[in-house]
Amino acid sequence: MFGLIRAAVFFLRPRSPTNLGEMSEILDAVRDGASGEVLAEIAMPSTTRAAFVLRDEQHMFEGMPSRDKDPRKSLHVAEVAIPELAPDEVYLAVMASSINFNTVWTSIFEPLSTFGFLDRLAKESYWGRRHALEYHVVGSDASGVVLRTGSAVRNWKVGDEVTVHCNYVDDQDPSSHDDSMLSSNQKIWGFETNFGGLADICVVKANQLMPKPTHLSWEEAAVNALCNSTSYRMLVSRNGAPVTQGDKVLIWGASGGIGSFAVQHVLNSGATPIGVVSSAAKAQTLHELGCEFVINREEKQYNFWKDAHTQDETEWRRFGKDVRALVGEDPDIVFEHPGRSTMGASVFVAKRGGTIVTCAATSGYMIEYDNRHLWMKLKTIKGSHFSNYREAWAANQTIIDGKVVPPLSAVFPLEQVGEATYEVHLNRHEGKIGVLCVAEQEGLGVTNPELRAKVGAKRLTIFRRHDKEFS
Ligand code: NAP
Repeated sequence: MFGLIRAAVFFLRPRSPTNLGEMSEILDAVRDGASGEVLAEIAMPSTTRAAFVLRDEQHMFEGMPSRDKDPRKSLHVAEVAIPELAPDEVYLAVMASSINFNTVWTSIFEPLSTFGFLDRLAKESYWGRRHALEYHVVGSDASGVVLRTGSAVRNWKVGDEVTVHCNYVDDQDPSSHDDSMLSSNQKIWGFETNFGGLADICVVKANQLMPKPTHLSWEEAAVNALCNSTSYRMLVSRNGAPVTQGDKVLIWGASGGIGSFAVQHVLNSGATPIGVVSSAAKAQTLHELGCEFVINREEKQYNFWKDAHTQDETEWRRFGKDVRALVGEDPDIVFEHPGRSTMGASVFVAKRGGTIVTCAATSGYMIEYDNRHLWMKLKTIKGSHFSNYREAWAANQTIIDGKVVPPLSAVFPLEQVGEATYEVHLNRHEGKIGVLCVAEQEGLGVTNPELRAKVGAKRLTIFRRHDKEFS
Protein backbone atom coordinates (compact mmCIF):
# COMPACT_ATOMS: atom_id res chain seq x y z
CA MET A 1 0.00 0.00 0.00
CA PHE A 2 2.83 2.36 0.94
CA GLY A 3 4.38 1.73 -2.49
CA LEU A 4 1.12 2.65 -4.22
CA ILE A 5 0.83 5.88 -2.29
CA ARG A 6 4.41 6.76 -3.07
CA ALA A 7 3.78 5.96 -6.72
CA ALA A 8 0.89 8.40 -6.77
CA VAL A 9 3.04 11.08 -5.14
CA PHE A 10 6.15 10.69 -7.22
CA PHE A 11 4.70 9.56 -10.48
CA LEU A 12 5.88 11.82 -13.27
CA ARG A 13 7.23 14.33 -10.82
CA PRO A 14 10.06 16.07 -12.60
CA ARG A 15 13.49 15.35 -11.21
CA SER A 16 14.05 17.96 -8.53
CA PRO A 17 17.45 18.89 -7.11
CA THR A 18 16.43 17.11 -3.89
CA ASN A 19 15.63 13.72 -5.30
CA LEU A 20 18.46 14.00 -7.84
CA GLY A 21 20.86 14.39 -4.92
CA GLU A 22 19.19 11.54 -3.09
CA MET A 23 19.61 9.29 -6.13
CA SER A 24 23.13 10.27 -6.84
CA GLU A 25 24.68 9.27 -3.56
CA ILE A 26 24.21 5.51 -3.87
CA LEU A 27 24.46 5.45 -7.65
CA ASP A 28 27.59 7.61 -7.57
CA ALA A 29 29.04 5.13 -5.08
CA VAL A 30 28.20 2.31 -7.50
CA ARG A 31 29.89 4.23 -10.33
CA ASP A 32 32.94 4.69 -8.10
CA GLY A 33 33.10 0.93 -7.52
CA ALA A 34 32.19 1.10 -3.81
CA SER A 35 32.21 -2.18 -1.88
CA GLY A 36 29.04 -3.91 -0.74
CA GLU A 37 29.74 -2.79 2.84
CA VAL A 38 29.84 0.84 1.75
CA LEU A 39 26.72 0.54 -0.42
CA ALA A 40 24.83 -1.07 2.45
CA GLU A 41 25.44 2.04 4.57
CA ILE A 42 24.03 4.51 2.04
CA ALA A 43 20.28 5.14 2.15
CA MET A 44 18.19 3.93 -0.75
CA PRO A 45 16.44 6.69 -2.69
CA SER A 46 12.66 6.66 -2.90
CA THR A 47 12.51 7.27 -6.66
CA THR A 48 14.38 6.22 -9.76
CA ARG A 49 14.67 7.36 -13.35
CA ALA A 50 12.84 4.83 -15.52
CA ALA A 51 11.39 4.24 -18.99
CA PHE A 52 7.67 3.49 -19.05
CA VAL A 53 4.43 3.54 -21.01
CA LEU A 54 1.27 5.10 -19.60
CA ARG A 55 -2.05 3.38 -18.98
CA ASP A 56 -3.99 6.42 -20.16
CA GLU A 57 -2.12 6.35 -23.49
CA GLN A 58 -2.71 2.66 -24.21
CA HIS A 59 -5.21 3.45 -26.99
CA MET A 60 -3.11 6.19 -28.61
CA PHE A 61 -2.22 4.16 -31.73
CA GLU A 62 -5.59 2.50 -32.31
CA GLY A 63 -6.47 2.12 -35.99
CA MET A 64 -2.93 2.86 -37.19
CA PRO A 65 -0.83 0.39 -39.22
CA SER A 66 1.80 -1.27 -37.00
CA ARG A 67 4.71 0.36 -38.77
CA ASP A 68 3.37 3.86 -38.05
CA LYS A 69 3.07 3.23 -34.30
CA ASP A 70 6.00 5.17 -32.89
CA PRO A 71 7.69 4.10 -29.62
CA ARG A 72 9.27 7.57 -29.44
CA LYS A 73 5.79 8.87 -28.65
CA SER A 74 4.71 6.22 -26.15
CA LEU A 75 7.92 5.60 -24.15
CA HIS A 76 8.62 8.23 -21.49
CA VAL A 77 11.62 8.65 -19.20
CA ALA A 78 11.04 10.30 -15.80
CA GLU A 79 11.23 9.68 -12.05
CA VAL A 80 8.94 7.02 -10.58
CA ALA A 81 8.61 5.60 -7.09
CA ILE A 82 10.72 2.61 -6.06
CA PRO A 83 8.34 -0.02 -4.63
CA GLU A 84 8.72 -1.83 -1.33
CA LEU A 85 11.03 -4.87 -1.59
CA ALA A 86 9.53 -8.38 -1.25
CA PRO A 87 11.52 -10.91 0.80
CA ASP A 88 12.66 -12.85 -2.29
CA GLU A 89 13.72 -9.79 -4.29
CA VAL A 90 16.70 -7.48 -4.70
CA TYR A 91 17.10 -3.86 -5.75
CA LEU A 92 19.59 -3.62 -8.56
CA ALA A 93 21.50 -0.58 -9.80
CA VAL A 94 21.12 -1.11 -13.53
CA MET A 95 24.41 -0.25 -15.19
CA ALA A 96 23.04 -1.15 -18.62
CA SER A 97 20.00 -2.75 -20.19
CA SER A 98 18.88 -3.65 -23.69
CA ILE A 99 16.03 -3.33 -26.14
CA ASN A 100 14.14 -6.53 -26.72
CA PHE A 101 11.34 -7.06 -29.18
CA ASN A 102 8.95 -7.21 -26.21
CA THR A 103 9.84 -3.54 -25.58
CA VAL A 104 8.56 -2.90 -29.10
CA TRP A 105 5.35 -4.85 -28.39
CA THR A 106 4.75 -2.95 -25.12
CA SER A 107 5.42 0.45 -26.65
CA ILE A 108 3.08 -0.04 -29.62
CA PHE A 109 0.47 -1.77 -27.41
CA GLU A 110 0.44 -4.84 -29.67
CA PRO A 111 -0.89 -7.49 -29.81
CA LEU A 112 -2.44 -6.10 -26.62
CA SER A 113 -1.71 -3.56 -23.94
CA THR A 114 0.55 -4.89 -21.17
CA PHE A 115 -1.55 -3.19 -18.46
CA GLY A 116 -3.83 -6.26 -18.54
CA PHE A 117 -0.83 -8.40 -17.46
CA LEU A 118 -0.10 -6.04 -14.56
CA ASP A 119 -3.73 -6.07 -13.43
CA ARG A 120 -3.77 -9.89 -13.45
CA LEU A 121 -0.51 -10.05 -11.48
CA ALA A 122 -2.04 -7.66 -8.94
CA LYS A 123 -4.75 -10.22 -8.18
CA GLU A 124 -2.22 -12.94 -7.31
CA SER A 125 -0.79 -11.69 -4.03
CA TYR A 126 0.04 -8.83 -1.70
CA TRP A 127 3.35 -8.31 -3.51
CA GLY A 128 1.69 -8.65 -6.89
CA ARG A 129 -0.52 -5.67 -6.08
CA ARG A 130 2.47 -3.31 -6.34
CA HIS A 131 2.60 -3.90 -10.11
CA ALA A 132 -0.79 -2.51 -11.19
CA LEU A 133 0.11 1.15 -11.59
CA GLU A 134 -0.72 3.91 -14.02
CA TYR A 135 2.66 3.33 -15.67
CA HIS A 136 4.58 0.25 -16.75
CA VAL A 137 8.37 0.35 -16.36
CA VAL A 138 9.64 -1.86 -19.18
CA GLY A 139 12.84 -3.76 -19.94
CA SER A 140 13.69 -7.48 -19.70
CA ASP A 141 17.49 -7.41 -19.55
CA ALA A 142 19.97 -5.84 -17.14
CA SER A 143 23.51 -5.94 -15.91
CA GLY A 144 24.26 -4.22 -12.64
CA VAL A 145 25.11 -4.18 -8.95
CA VAL A 146 22.96 -5.51 -6.10
CA LEU A 147 21.95 -2.63 -3.77
CA ARG A 148 19.72 -4.41 -1.28
CA THR A 149 18.54 -7.98 -0.69
CA GLY A 150 15.18 -9.07 0.71
CA SER A 151 15.10 -11.08 3.94
CA ALA A 152 14.71 -14.43 2.13
CA VAL A 153 17.62 -13.96 -0.29
CA ARG A 154 20.45 -16.41 0.42
CA ASN A 155 22.82 -16.64 -2.52
CA TRP A 156 23.44 -12.99 -3.34
CA LYS A 157 24.68 -10.00 -1.39
CA VAL A 158 24.94 -6.24 -1.70
CA GLY A 159 27.72 -5.31 -4.15
CA ASP A 160 27.47 -8.45 -6.30
CA GLU A 161 27.88 -7.80 -10.03
CA VAL A 162 25.19 -9.66 -11.93
CA THR A 163 23.13 -10.08 -15.05
CA VAL A 164 19.41 -10.78 -14.96
CA HIS A 165 17.28 -13.31 -16.84
CA CYS A 166 13.61 -12.54 -17.28
CA ASN A 167 11.83 -15.75 -16.18
CA TYR A 168 9.58 -14.59 -13.34
CA VAL A 169 8.06 -17.56 -11.49
CA ASP A 170 6.24 -18.16 -8.27
CA ASP A 171 8.27 -20.94 -6.68
CA GLN A 172 5.45 -21.77 -4.22
CA ASP A 173 3.40 -23.03 -7.16
CA PRO A 174 3.79 -26.82 -7.62
CA SER A 175 3.59 -26.45 -11.39
CA SER A 176 6.90 -24.57 -11.36
CA HIS A 177 8.88 -27.51 -9.98
CA ASP A 178 9.74 -29.54 -13.04
CA ASP A 179 10.39 -27.10 -15.81
CA SER A 180 9.58 -23.64 -14.45
CA MET A 181 8.55 -22.50 -17.93
CA LEU A 182 5.56 -24.82 -17.43
CA SER A 183 4.54 -22.94 -14.30
CA SER A 184 0.89 -21.91 -14.56
CA ASN A 185 1.65 -18.29 -13.69
CA GLN A 186 5.05 -17.95 -15.38
CA LYS A 187 5.73 -14.38 -16.55
CA ILE A 188 8.36 -12.36 -18.38
CA TRP A 189 9.88 -9.71 -16.12
CA GLY A 190 9.61 -6.18 -17.50
CA PHE A 191 6.91 -7.24 -19.97
CA GLU A 192 4.30 -9.04 -17.88
CA THR A 193 5.57 -7.43 -14.65
CA ASN A 194 6.38 -3.86 -13.69
CA PHE A 195 9.74 -2.45 -12.46
CA GLY A 196 11.76 -3.71 -15.44
CA GLY A 197 15.37 -3.16 -16.42
CA LEU A 198 15.15 0.08 -18.43
CA ALA A 199 15.70 2.18 -15.29
CA ASP A 200 18.48 3.23 -12.95
CA ILE A 201 17.12 0.96 -10.22
CA CYS A 202 14.99 -2.11 -10.91
CA VAL A 203 13.41 -4.85 -8.81
CA VAL A 204 14.10 -8.52 -9.57
CA LYS A 205 13.60 -11.84 -7.86
CA ALA A 206 16.79 -13.41 -6.50
CA ASN A 207 16.18 -16.43 -8.74
CA GLN A 208 16.64 -14.22 -11.80
CA LEU A 209 20.24 -13.36 -10.94
CA MET A 210 23.33 -14.77 -12.64
CA PRO A 211 27.01 -13.81 -12.39
CA LYS A 212 28.13 -11.04 -14.73
CA PRO A 213 30.71 -12.26 -17.28
CA THR A 214 33.89 -10.60 -16.03
CA HIS A 215 35.46 -9.97 -19.45
CA LEU A 216 32.53 -7.88 -20.70
CA SER A 217 31.63 -4.24 -20.29
CA TRP A 218 28.30 -3.42 -18.64
CA GLU A 219 26.56 -2.87 -21.97
CA GLU A 220 28.01 -6.04 -23.50
CA ALA A 221 26.88 -8.00 -20.45
CA ALA A 222 23.37 -6.51 -20.57
CA VAL A 223 22.28 -7.66 -24.02
CA ASN A 224 22.49 -11.44 -23.69
CA ALA A 225 20.23 -13.03 -21.12
CA LEU A 226 16.85 -12.82 -22.84
CA CYS A 227 17.86 -13.73 -26.38
CA ASN A 228 20.71 -16.10 -25.58
CA SER A 229 18.62 -18.13 -23.11
CA THR A 230 15.72 -18.31 -25.60
CA SER A 231 17.97 -19.62 -28.37
CA TYR A 232 19.72 -21.98 -25.95
CA ARG A 233 16.42 -23.62 -24.97
CA MET A 234 15.27 -23.84 -28.61
CA LEU A 235 18.45 -25.45 -29.88
CA VAL A 236 20.64 -26.85 -27.09
CA SER A 237 18.39 -27.84 -24.20
CA ARG A 238 16.57 -31.15 -24.10
CA ASN A 239 13.39 -29.07 -23.95
CA GLY A 240 13.97 -27.76 -27.46
CA ALA A 241 14.97 -29.37 -30.74
CA PRO A 242 18.42 -30.28 -29.59
CA VAL A 243 20.92 -29.85 -32.33
CA THR A 244 23.57 -32.48 -32.86
CA GLN A 245 26.84 -32.75 -34.78
CA GLY A 246 26.35 -32.70 -38.52
CA ASP A 247 22.84 -31.20 -38.40
CA LYS A 248 21.90 -28.50 -40.86
CA VAL A 249 19.94 -25.71 -39.17
CA LEU A 250 18.06 -23.01 -41.07
CA ILE A 251 17.94 -19.79 -39.04
CA TRP A 252 15.59 -16.93 -39.96
CA GLY A 253 16.71 -13.43 -38.91
CA ALA A 254 20.17 -14.87 -38.31
CA SER A 255 21.85 -11.56 -37.49
CA GLY A 256 18.99 -10.37 -35.25
CA GLY A 257 18.60 -10.78 -31.48
CA ILE A 258 17.79 -14.48 -31.07
CA GLY A 259 19.19 -15.42 -34.50
CA SER A 260 22.73 -14.25 -33.74
CA PHE A 261 22.81 -16.44 -30.62
CA ALA A 262 21.25 -19.34 -32.53
CA VAL A 263 24.05 -19.21 -35.11
CA GLN A 264 26.69 -19.38 -32.36
CA HIS A 265 25.01 -22.30 -30.55
CA VAL A 266 24.70 -24.25 -33.80
CA LEU A 267 28.38 -23.68 -34.62
CA ASN A 268 29.40 -24.65 -31.07
CA SER A 269 27.39 -27.89 -31.41
CA GLY A 270 29.37 -29.00 -34.46
CA ALA A 271 26.42 -28.42 -36.76
CA THR A 272 25.99 -26.19 -39.81
CA PRO A 273 23.87 -23.02 -39.72
CA ILE A 274 22.23 -21.61 -42.83
CA GLY A 275 21.46 -17.98 -41.97
CA VAL A 276 18.72 -15.97 -43.66
CA VAL A 277 19.11 -12.17 -43.57
CA SER A 278 17.93 -9.16 -45.57
CA SER A 279 21.09 -7.32 -46.63
CA ALA A 280 24.63 -7.86 -47.85
CA ALA A 281 26.00 -6.11 -44.76
CA LYS A 282 24.16 -8.54 -42.47
CA ALA A 283 25.44 -11.45 -44.58
CA GLN A 284 28.96 -10.12 -44.04
CA THR A 285 28.41 -10.02 -40.27
CA LEU A 286 27.36 -13.68 -40.33
CA HIS A 287 30.43 -14.67 -42.33
CA GLU A 288 32.60 -12.94 -39.72
CA LEU A 289 30.76 -14.86 -37.01
CA GLY A 290 31.73 -18.11 -38.77
CA CYS A 291 28.46 -18.82 -40.58
CA GLU A 292 29.55 -19.91 -44.04
CA PHE A 293 26.14 -20.38 -45.65
CA VAL A 294 23.93 -17.30 -45.88
CA ILE A 295 20.84 -16.48 -47.93
CA ASN A 296 20.07 -12.80 -48.55
CA ARG A 297 16.26 -12.79 -48.79
CA GLU A 298 16.22 -9.25 -50.18
CA GLU A 299 18.39 -10.30 -53.08
CA LYS A 300 16.34 -13.48 -53.68
CA GLN A 301 13.00 -11.66 -53.41
CA TYR A 302 11.05 -14.70 -52.19
CA ASN A 303 7.34 -14.12 -52.49
CA PHE A 304 5.83 -16.81 -50.28
CA TRP A 305 2.43 -15.05 -50.27
CA LYS A 306 0.85 -14.28 -53.67
CA ASP A 307 -1.65 -12.08 -51.87
CA ALA A 308 -2.85 -11.64 -48.27
CA HIS A 309 -4.66 -15.04 -48.36
CA THR A 310 -2.75 -17.30 -50.75
CA GLN A 311 0.67 -18.86 -50.44
CA ASP A 312 2.84 -19.86 -53.39
CA GLU A 313 4.33 -23.36 -53.20
CA THR A 314 6.60 -22.68 -56.17
CA GLU A 315 8.31 -20.02 -54.05
CA TRP A 316 8.71 -22.50 -51.17
CA ARG A 317 10.37 -24.87 -53.69
CA ARG A 318 12.68 -22.14 -54.97
CA PHE A 319 13.72 -21.39 -51.38
CA GLY A 320 14.22 -25.11 -50.65
CA LYS A 321 16.41 -25.48 -53.75
CA ASP A 322 18.56 -22.54 -52.62
CA VAL A 323 19.08 -24.20 -49.22
CA ARG A 324 19.99 -27.53 -50.86
CA ALA A 325 22.37 -25.77 -53.25
CA LEU A 326 24.24 -24.40 -50.26
CA VAL A 327 24.43 -27.43 -47.93
CA GLY A 328 23.43 -30.37 -50.12
CA GLU A 329 20.32 -31.38 -48.15
CA ASP A 330 17.19 -30.15 -46.41
CA PRO A 331 17.57 -28.68 -42.91
CA ASP A 332 17.15 -30.99 -39.91
CA ILE A 333 15.92 -28.03 -37.86
CA VAL A 334 14.30 -24.73 -38.80
CA PHE A 335 14.69 -21.93 -36.24
CA GLU A 336 11.41 -20.08 -36.80
CA HIS A 337 10.11 -16.78 -35.41
CA PRO A 338 8.92 -14.45 -38.23
CA GLY A 339 5.62 -16.41 -38.16
CA ARG A 340 2.97 -15.77 -40.79
CA SER A 341 5.34 -14.65 -43.57
CA THR A 342 7.64 -17.68 -43.32
CA MET A 343 5.94 -20.58 -41.50
CA GLY A 344 4.57 -22.18 -44.68
CA ALA A 345 8.06 -22.15 -46.19
CA SER A 346 9.63 -23.38 -42.93
CA VAL A 347 7.34 -26.42 -42.71
CA PHE A 348 7.94 -27.15 -46.39
CA VAL A 349 11.76 -26.99 -46.36
CA ALA A 350 12.39 -28.95 -43.13
CA LYS A 351 13.84 -32.40 -43.73
CA ARG A 352 11.68 -35.55 -43.52
CA GLY A 353 11.45 -36.18 -39.77
CA GLY A 354 12.82 -32.70 -39.09
CA THR A 355 11.75 -30.13 -36.51
CA ILE A 356 10.50 -26.59 -36.84
CA VAL A 357 11.13 -24.92 -33.48
CA THR A 358 9.27 -21.65 -33.00
CA CYS A 359 9.14 -19.00 -30.29
CA ALA A 360 7.39 -16.09 -31.96
CA ALA A 361 5.42 -14.63 -34.84
CA THR A 362 6.77 -11.17 -35.57
CA SER A 363 4.90 -10.84 -38.88
CA GLY A 364 1.61 -12.32 -37.63
CA TYR A 365 0.56 -15.11 -35.31
CA MET A 366 -2.32 -16.58 -37.33
CA ILE A 367 -0.03 -18.82 -39.31
CA GLU A 368 -0.76 -21.13 -42.23
CA TYR A 369 1.10 -24.11 -43.65
CA ASP A 370 0.28 -27.13 -45.80
CA ASN A 371 -0.35 -29.91 -43.30
CA ARG A 372 0.41 -32.60 -45.92
CA HIS A 373 4.06 -31.63 -45.82
CA LEU A 374 4.01 -31.99 -42.04
CA TRP A 375 2.31 -35.35 -41.59
CA MET A 376 3.45 -37.18 -44.73
CA LYS A 377 7.06 -36.33 -43.93
CA LEU A 378 6.71 -36.89 -40.18
CA LYS A 379 7.87 -33.41 -39.22
CA THR A 380 7.35 -31.80 -35.81
CA ILE A 381 6.48 -28.23 -34.90
CA LYS A 382 7.82 -27.48 -31.45
CA GLY A 383 6.73 -24.43 -29.45
CA SER A 384 9.30 -22.83 -27.17
CA HIS A 385 9.29 -19.85 -24.84
CA PHE A 386 12.20 -18.19 -23.01
CA SER A 387 14.00 -20.64 -20.65
CA ASN A 388 14.01 -21.92 -17.12
CA TYR A 389 16.68 -20.80 -14.60
CA ARG A 390 18.88 -23.85 -15.27
CA GLU A 391 18.86 -23.17 -19.00
CA ALA A 392 19.44 -19.43 -18.54
CA TRP A 393 22.35 -20.23 -16.22
CA ALA A 394 23.85 -22.65 -18.77
CA ALA A 395 23.39 -20.07 -21.53
CA ASN A 396 25.09 -17.45 -19.35
CA GLN A 397 27.97 -19.89 -18.84
CA THR A 398 28.54 -19.97 -22.61
CA ILE A 399 29.08 -16.20 -22.41
CA ILE A 400 31.26 -16.45 -19.27
CA ASP A 401 33.43 -19.01 -21.05
CA GLY A 402 33.81 -16.76 -24.10
CA LYS A 403 32.20 -19.43 -26.33
CA VAL A 404 29.38 -17.08 -27.29
CA VAL A 405 29.94 -13.36 -27.88
CA PRO A 406 27.42 -10.57 -27.29
CA PRO A 407 25.99 -9.31 -30.59
CA LEU A 408 26.04 -5.68 -29.37
CA SER A 409 25.62 -3.41 -32.40
CA ALA A 410 24.77 0.02 -30.96
CA VAL A 411 24.39 1.76 -27.60
CA PHE A 412 21.89 4.46 -26.63
CA PRO A 413 21.50 6.42 -23.38
CA LEU A 414 18.34 5.70 -21.37
CA GLU A 415 16.94 9.11 -22.33
CA GLN A 416 16.83 7.89 -25.95
CA VAL A 417 15.05 4.61 -25.25
CA GLY A 418 12.26 5.59 -27.68
CA GLU A 419 14.72 6.05 -30.54
CA ALA A 420 16.46 2.75 -29.70
CA THR A 421 13.13 0.90 -29.67
CA TYR A 422 12.10 2.56 -32.93
CA GLU A 423 15.23 1.14 -34.62
CA VAL A 424 14.27 -2.40 -33.58
CA HIS A 425 10.62 -1.82 -34.55
CA LEU A 426 11.68 -0.84 -38.08
CA ASN A 427 14.26 -3.67 -38.33
CA ARG A 428 17.05 -1.13 -38.88
CA HIS A 429 19.35 -2.77 -36.35
CA GLU A 430 21.56 -5.83 -36.14
CA GLY A 431 22.05 -8.13 -33.15
CA LYS A 432 21.20 -6.26 -29.97
CA ILE A 433 20.96 -2.60 -28.98
CA GLY A 434 22.34 -1.80 -25.53
CA VAL A 435 21.09 1.02 -23.29
CA LEU A 436 23.29 2.81 -20.74
CA CYS A 437 21.50 3.47 -17.45
CA VAL A 438 23.73 4.11 -14.39
CA ALA A 439 26.93 3.56 -16.41
CA GLU A 440 27.78 6.95 -17.85
CA GLN A 441 29.93 5.74 -20.70
CA GLU A 442 30.67 2.63 -22.67
CA GLY A 443 33.51 0.22 -21.97
CA LEU A 444 33.30 0.17 -18.17
CA GLY A 445 32.93 -2.91 -15.98
CA VAL A 446 35.61 -5.22 -17.42
CA THR A 447 37.35 -6.99 -14.51
CA ASN A 448 39.07 -9.79 -16.43
CA PRO A 449 41.11 -8.16 -19.21
CA GLU A 450 43.11 -11.39 -19.74
CA LEU A 451 40.00 -13.34 -20.75
CA ARG A 452 38.85 -10.38 -22.84
CA ALA A 453 42.15 -10.44 -24.72
CA LYS A 454 41.83 -14.22 -25.18
CA VAL A 455 38.33 -13.95 -26.69
CA GLY A 456 39.65 -11.07 -28.77
CA ALA A 457 38.48 -7.52 -29.44
CA LYS A 458 37.82 -8.40 -33.07
CA ARG A 459 35.35 -11.15 -32.19
CA LEU A 460 33.71 -9.06 -29.46
CA THR A 461 33.01 -6.22 -31.89
CA ILE A 462 31.81 -8.08 -34.97
CA PHE A 463 28.35 -6.49 -34.74
CA ARG A 464 29.72 -3.09 -33.68
CA ARG A 465 31.69 -2.51 -36.84
CA HIS A 466 28.54 -2.29 -38.92
CA ASP A 467 26.36 -0.12 -36.71
CA LYS A 468 26.56 2.98 -38.91
CA GLU A 469 25.27 1.06 -41.92
CA PHE A 470 22.09 0.17 -40.06
CA SER A 471 21.14 3.48 -38.52
P1 NAP B 1 15.07 -8.86 -33.99
O1 NAP B 1 16.37 -8.51 -33.38
O2 NAP B 1 14.22 -7.78 -34.57
O3 NAP B 1 15.40 -9.93 -35.13
C1 NAP B 1 14.39 -10.53 -35.88
C2 NAP B 1 14.86 -10.75 -37.30
O4 NAP B 1 13.85 -11.47 -37.99
C3 NAP B 1 15.04 -9.45 -38.08
O5 NAP B 1 16.34 -8.97 -37.91
C4 NAP B 1 14.76 -9.88 -39.50
O6 NAP B 1 15.99 -10.26 -40.12
C5 NAP B 1 13.91 -11.14 -39.35
N1 NAP B 1 12.56 -10.89 -39.83
C6 NAP B 1 11.67 -9.97 -39.38
N2 NAP B 1 10.54 -10.04 -40.10
C7 NAP B 1 10.73 -11.02 -41.02
C8 NAP B 1 9.93 -11.56 -42.06
N3 NAP B 1 8.70 -11.10 -42.30
N4 NAP B 1 10.44 -12.57 -42.82
C9 NAP B 1 11.69 -13.03 -42.59
N5 NAP B 1 12.49 -12.55 -41.62
C10 NAP B 1 12.01 -11.57 -40.85
O7 NAP B 1 14.16 -9.62 -32.97
P2 NAP B 1 14.56 -10.81 -31.97
O8 NAP B 1 14.96 -10.25 -30.66
O9 NAP B 1 15.47 -11.74 -32.68
O10 NAP B 1 13.13 -11.47 -31.77
C11 NAP B 1 12.50 -12.10 -32.88
C12 NAP B 1 11.08 -12.50 -32.46
O11 NAP B 1 11.18 -13.45 -31.42
C13 NAP B 1 10.25 -11.34 -31.92
O12 NAP B 1 8.90 -11.51 -32.33
C14 NAP B 1 10.34 -11.50 -30.41
O13 NAP B 1 9.24 -10.96 -29.72
C15 NAP B 1 10.41 -13.01 -30.29
N6 NAP B 1 11.07 -13.51 -29.09
C16 NAP B 1 10.42 -14.45 -28.37
C17 NAP B 1 11.01 -14.95 -27.23
C18 NAP B 1 10.30 -15.97 -26.40
O14 NAP B 1 10.76 -16.27 -25.32
N7 NAP B 1 9.18 -16.51 -26.83
C19 NAP B 1 12.28 -14.51 -26.85
C20 NAP B 1 12.94 -13.57 -27.65
C21 NAP B 1 12.33 -13.08 -28.78
P3 NAP B 1 16.33 -9.93 -41.64
O15 NAP B 1 15.57 -8.70 -42.01
O16 NAP B 1 17.80 -9.73 -41.65
O17 NAP B 1 15.92 -11.15 -42.42
